[in-house]
Amino acid sequence: MTIKIIKKAPDKKVVKRCVCKHCGATLEYTPNDVTYKIYEDYGGGKDTYAEFGCPNCGKLIRDVQ
Ligand SMILES: [Zn+2]
Repeated sequence: MTIKIIKKAPDKKVVKRCVCKHCGATLEYTPNDVTYKIYEDYGGGKDTYAEFGCPNCGKLIRDVQ
């Protein structure tokens, strides 16, 4: 079976929005645009966050999911 592409535009289910904490721009991204990293705190809890450069101001953004 071949996988068919029905629609190439990213679906809202995977598109994330965040506001840059540095310049205030509202950004939209898909998982392919960013690197996911796991942050482990001292209590053993784990958080996944997306890391990417803001296209507006160029500073590093960490968006916790
Ligand atoms: Zn920014």
